[in-house]
Amino acid sequence: MTRVCINIHASTYTRRYMARVAVTDGMDPDAIRILKELGHDVIEQHYSKEELNSGILSEFDAVVVRSATKISPKIIASSGKLSFIGRGGVGVDNIDIDAATKAGIVVCNTPRSSTHSVVELTIGHLLASCRHIAKADRSIREGKWEKKTLKGTELSGKRLGLIGFGRIAQGVASIANSLGMECHTYDPYLPNEIASKFNTTLHSEINSLFRLCTHISVHCNLTEETYHLVNNERIKMMPGMGADGVFCGNHIVNCARGGIVDEKAILMNLESEKLSSAALDVFESEPVENNPLVSHPNFHGSPHVGAATAEAQYRIGQEMVTLLKSHFNGEKPHSALN
Ligand code: NAD
Repeated sequence: MTRVCINIHASTYTRRYMARVAVTDGMDPDAIRILKELGHDVIEQHYSKEELNSGILSEFDAVVVRSATKISPKIIASSGKLSFIGRGGVGVDNIDIDAATKAGIVVCNTPRSSTHSVVELTIGHLLASCRHIAKADRSIREGKWEKKTLKGTELSGKRLGLIGFGRIAQGVASIANSLGMECHTYDPYLPNEIASKFNTTLHSEINSLFRLCTHISVHCNLTEETYHLVNNERIKMMPGMGADGVFCGNHIVNCARGGIVDEKAILMNLESEKLSSAALDVFESEPVENNPLVSHPNFHGSPHVGAATAEAQYRIGQEMVTLLKSHFNGEKPHSALN
């Protein structure tokens, strides 16, 4: 049901396809407004796995998802005229890109829109963990005044190990350096010049990062290669003692993807106090249900809110509009992944 229509509001585009666009996990209202002004029929509706499997997407030309909607080969096989899958955000592990490519469907993401927000959340988790901010808040609400037990340690003078050194990790390193941390990186695909530019030491093997760093932050993609990269064996290697000679314990932060960190190993090491804290924004199974990890007092959690800021959502929406415009104008969208 692609048909040509004339747009009267968006002056830069005068002739385009009117398309049916499904927005299944929400999108910034301004982006929805622009798409509607461009003449597109935009349906904002979350579909169940059953609805998706039964071919609901065949009624659409494009679908825009975030992380909640999983686009499997089965869904793609029944997607009819669907020609565009847009992922608002970075990680495309919820979309089977090979199946989409075989079906001639273009897959795009919005890789830069949420970078700042995730950087800030990561730094927030690092600070909250080492200064017990969440624990202190819980304690003061209970009428307690636990100054002594809430003694923390500074980030300054400690070694931060970054796993993966792309957009987000580079932002984290810049702030961590300015806080006085010494940055180390493991990223097998990173040229040394980039590591030097961001004042981080590049390690050729991951274990040396764990042996050296009291703070580890995860910023790689979830792939077969990175599944449970942070595991019991590696956590056991962490030194507990900061570069400044202060015993600060060991701390893990994951604002990348669930599954890169082995949550059972995290819990075990929190219980044995090998880990002083663990802060996760992302989980192997989301939303979190009956996960014993979240009840541990030294666990800090957030419900996958890395990109949940007004600024990131606005930028994601605007970038998605640009991608859809390019696609319906017959051009290759700038962040096409296939
Ligand atoms: P990016 O593509 O710029 O960086 C990823 C880096 O990981 C690359 O430098 C790559 O070389 C490296 N890498 C790949 N395989 C690796 C391996 N085996 N070991 C170590 N490093 C490896 O991505 P980004 O924009 O910086 O995003 C980083 C992560 O953050 C992604 O997993 C993304 O899904 C996630 N993310 C989470 C949220 C959230 O809401 N919490 C929001 C945005 C992005």
